[in-house]
Amino acid sequence: MVNRKSEPQIQKMRLAGAVVGDTLKMLRGLAQEGVTLRELDKAAEAFIRARGGKPTFKGYHGFPASLCLSLNHEVVHGIPNGRKLKKGDILSIDCGVTLDDWVGDAAITVMIEPVAQDVRQLVETTYASLDAGIEAAKVGARLGDIGAAIEKVINRRGYGIVREYCGHGVGKALHEDPQVPNYGTAGAGPRIQPGWCLAIEPMVNLGGDAVHTLSDGWTVITNDAKPSAHVEHSIAITEAGVQILTLCSDGTRP
Ligand code: MG
Ligand code: MG
Repeated sequence: MVNRKSEPQIQKMRLAGAVVGDTLKMLRGLAQEGVTLRELDKAAEAFIRARGGKPTFKGYHGFPASLCLSLNHEVVHGIPNGRKLKKGDILSIDCGVTLDDWVGDAAITVMIEPVAQDVRQLVETTYASLDAGIEAAKVGARLGDIGAAIEKVINRRGYGIVREYCGHGVGKALHEDPQVPNYGTAGAGPRIQPGWCLAIEPMVNLGGDAVHTLSDGWTVITNDAKPSAHVEHSIAITEAGVQILTLCSDGTRP
């Protein structure tokens, strides 16, 4: 069952999403050589609470931090710790905010320059695949169209697509129906309805598809230890078109 959101509900999700966008933009500036992952997490939590929000991830199934920070060959769900960013790193910053009972969920991948050309291309392609997925999400299209559009962009470069984790519905809960895989068959699956709110989040590997979870129970890494990128937006699909809910307050992308 996919919850359809009313326009006033979507407006509330946009307010939660703007806190996510602004937090991610702040973190993009802060993520420099020498900064620790724990410092990023603390800055995010303070920023979110100052805006009247709650970090959705903190305590979610016992997750111990406000952000998921996944460095280089880590794919998703990395736990912020004392590691320092260094030149050549890429970092996926995944942020959820609950504001007035509604959730926004988005992620960026930042590059600590200079970054190797093949890694830069991975990050840029991951962003392009997210854009393609958002473009495919429209009333009357099929759910499989989204995954097919994402997959097409990723396959062009021969990258690995993570299959164990996927996008999802979002609303009052962080994870709602439907699941939104980052691969699929165009024209397959249920028809997309007005009022659907989805978090679309390609996870793309420089090497193969395969990943596994570390013994901390959270951190997902690539089996071949090659880098992985991850970006995400929450979107609302309405008759008027698709709206990105996790833009910054000024309407820019984080
Ligand atoms: Mg997320
Ligand atoms: Mg998500």
